[in-house]
Amino acid sequence: SPSERNPDPHRPRVMGLETEYGILLAGGGPLTELQERLDELHPMHLSNAVVRAYGQLVAQRPTGWDYETESPLADQRGFELARSDALAEQLTDVESGLANLVLTNGARLYVDHAHPEYATPEVTTARDAVLWDRAGDQAMVLASRAASEVLGREIRLYRNNTDGKGASYGSHENYLLHRSTPFSRVVVQFTPFLVSRSVVVGAGRVGIGQSSELAGFQLSQRADFFETEVGLETTVNRPIINTRDEPHADARTSRRLHVITGDASSSEYAGWLKVGTAALVLALVEAGTWPDPPRLLDPVRAMHEISHDPTLRATVELDDGRRLSGLDLQQLVLDAVRTHLARAEEDPGAEAAELLTGWQQVLDDLRTDPARCADRLDWVAKQHLLERYRERDGLAWDAPKLALVDLQYADIDPRRSLHAALVARGRMRRLVGEAEVEHARTSPPTDTRAWFRGQCMRRFADQVVAASWDSVIFQLDRERSWIRLPMPDPLRGTRAHVGELFDRAADAGELLALLGS
Ligand code: ATP
Ligand code: MG
Ligand code: MG
Repeated sequence: SPSERNPDPHRPRVMGLETEYGILLAGGGPLTELQERLDELHPMHLSNAVVRAYGQLVAQRPTGWDYETESPLADQRGFELARSDALAEQLTDVESGLANLVLTNGARLYVDHAHPEYATPEVTTARDAVLWDRAGDQAMVLASRAASEVLGREIRLYRNNTDGKGASYGSHENYLLHRSTPFSRVVVQFTPFLVSRSVVVGAGRVGIGQSSELAGFQLSQRADFFETEVGLETTVNRPIINTRDEPHADARTSRRLHVITGDASSSEYAGWLKVGTAALVLALVEAGTWPDPPRLLDPVRAMHEISHDPTLRATVELDDGRRLSGLDLQQLVLDAVRTHLARAEEDPGAEAAELLTGWQQVLDDLRTDPARCADRLDWVAKQHLLERYRERDGLAWDAPKLALVDLQYADIDPRRSLHAALVARGRMRRLVGEAEVEHARTSPPTDTRAWFRGQCMRRFADQVVAASWDSVIFQLDRERSWIRLPMPDPLRGTRAHVGELFDRAADAGELLALLGS
């Protein structure tokens, strides 16, 4: 019914990406007691060291996340990151709390379970999602190098989603939806898209099954870890549609759809398609005008089967008896999006036309010959690398060397990354420039509340005790109590709204006074 339609289709869609990085301590004989101890540390300690090292590098004290962290590092600003055992102890210390940083670009850098995690600031275009996601990689490269320096052992970070031994870690996408969209419709209409999209945005994986029980190559890192259709969990019995409902915005009007099925993209182009196509499909879902969305008989099984077939010929069954391949399903969804955009009055956003063209081109190329997509898609580029090793050295799919190539593709340090090597040789398309990425590492997007958050951290970090996506908590001086500024609307607090106030305010007190007036 019309009342279920998105009441404000002209608002840009707010989005954000989270990346939990795989973390490894590289080999090398222990030299000191400390280095020996490192081997016994839980990955959580190493992750903490990486996040804290970044705080040291940018001379920023840990910021609370809705609470104040009393960290021993709190007052040690502008530290030289020279190697010292005392500093190493501090970096890895988790007794005093796991590190959490709110960055000047509006992002959040923290320790989630055993992994360092970077959550981008809120953005409104797929290209910006890629840009601030890459900025996170850049921050993590600096952080891991600094932590390695201090610890005397090399810490390596990976944009992958499984350790190949049964553990999986996430790369979450977040999309703001209007609350009035019935969730049951999201489940029905978004599921076939998520189940089939590994043909486009799978990152490629050596090994089949959660613990790589079977030898082989599959499209997706993450697919085998999904066991149910709908649910609240994110770390066990994972659902294709996650029902977590923490909107980080006004809960009466907004819902944050937390998408947990995706692979971390190394390819900028694949990352752009991943976010951009999902946002287009969600616009279609919100419109409520898709007459006949396909319904899969067994979505979980379909997700696994599509991922397990790099020839892209496998078909999965619909509840009307039809059998479609992953490519067929993607084409069906794309056609529905195209029809919707042609009819809709709303503003589809500046990227929509480019996304439609890019998505269609990829589907056409995959149908003709997947190798054509080696310049855009991670799984194709990775498969090509792996096949070269297989031919040269006569390797079977369970050869440890191939698992290493898989891992090294996703290494974020350009000195080791096989993906970065392909990019450097001009084999893979780039969407953003290095200078732009470096800028985004320290500067926020201008068109969301991340701008306000980032500017507060840049200008008045000493007066910010804590922040969250929808609040900033100030303490103007030590004698005064805290002031919580709620920011329920992700599209307020932009440069256009508050830029001029920041120009006029000498400190956070003046800023608050100006905001109040
Ligand atoms: P977890 O790590 O347990 O999955 P989480 O998903 O609740 O936690 P964060 O890791 O803090 O949260 O990341 C939230 C992400 O959602 C960020 O990338 C942020 O930019 C984005 N985001 C914040 N508010 C909104 C919103 N209202 N709509 C869409 N995205 C949002
Ligand atoms: Mg997170
Ligand atoms: Mg999340």
